[in-house]
Amino acid sequence: MAIYGKKDVKERIVALTRDLILIPSTVSRPVERLRCYEFIKNHLEALDQIKVREYESKGIPSLLATAEGINKPKILLCGHLDVIDHPDKASYHSVVKEGRIYGPGSGDMKGALAILLEVFRNIHSQKPDASLGIAITSDEESGGASGIGFLVARKGLSCKSAIIPDGGSLNEITVEEKGILHLKISSYGHPVHSARPWLGKNPIQELMGGIIKVQSYFDSLKTEGHWYPTCAVTIISTENKTINRIPSQAQAVLDIRFPPPFKVDSLTSKIKEILGKNYGIEKILGAGPTHLSPDPLYQKITEEVTGKKAVFIRDDGGSDARYLAPRGIPVMMSRPIVGNLHAEDEWVDIDSMVLLYEIYERYLLNKL
Ligand SMILES: [Zn+2]
Repeated sequence: MAIYGKKDVKERIVALTRDLILIPSTVSRPVERLRCYEFIKNHLEALDQIKVREYESKGIPSLLATAEGINKPKILLCGHLDVIDHPDKASYHSVVKEGRIYGPGSGDMKGALAILLEVFRNIHSQKPDASLGIAITSDEESGGASGIGFLVARKGLSCKSAIIPDGGSLNEITVEEKGILHLKISSYGHPVHSARPWLGKNPIQELMGGIIKVQSYFDSLKTEGHWYPTCAVTIISTENKTINRIPSQAQAVLDIRFPPPFKVDSLTSKIKEILGKNYGIEKILGAGPTHLSPDPLYQKITEEVTGKKAVFIRDDGGSDARYLAPRGIPVMMSRPIVGNLHAEDEWVDIDSMVLLYEIYERYLLNKL
């Protein structure tokens, strides 16, 4: 039997979500990010017989909490506390209306994080020695290499299976995620006064020409649906602060997402071939497509709790599952109903949060 009633659960996860939203835990605000981390750590340390191990890689904090004596939990809950940057700090607050919590990071993934923290606490209060862990990291939005990636590769983090509410929806369980490749492309020019452009070489124009060639290659890969490789130019920059000067360099960052059979290396070589040797290419992040292999029991329990069919879906986005699934660890990935992700009016549906909590509780009590 659960020790809390449904109403208590709802109140607790809504309050915790709203507390988490108030802290602008973004990559550009490391002090706030640390504050959010400390807040969660204190929350976990307050639990009886729970051991919290703390880690740091490249200034990025993370933790693993388990019952005393458990090093490799059977099931690992994974959450990230970092959220997307909005320039106005005042936008980091929440409003509850129409059965939703609105606020930056509510859907990705502070609402889900609150559910994980509450269910972790609940399961341990029912089964104090449960082989259940929770890993909290703070760099998922920038690739996860210093969070889950670091814990798995450098700190021996392992588990039999993982739960990551960072994709899918309440009745949509993610089974496959696209791979990810972030490339920085540079072009080099010859700076001159821009009233006499014939004397120099403009790296911005060269860069634009290269981007168009790369884009047309990706356009040629389009098929039905969205399960094909995509390329979005997300940043273009130069060192220039001067209007009447041609800059010496220009850079673009490409965010490329791809399904099998494409690979990080084959796509990188293809782009090098398209651009030729006048461009610099630097890989910022690369990871192949991921198969998540969720437990059929998780699907069954999702259907029982929600009273609706639960379907398997492919996700265009990626997540920290990319560090676990390739090691043969099945990942259960669904989440509450969310909307407007990465916008200031991002939201999470409250009733679906309570349902996901119930799915987790039932699944974990069955498995642990
Ligand atoms: Zn996320």
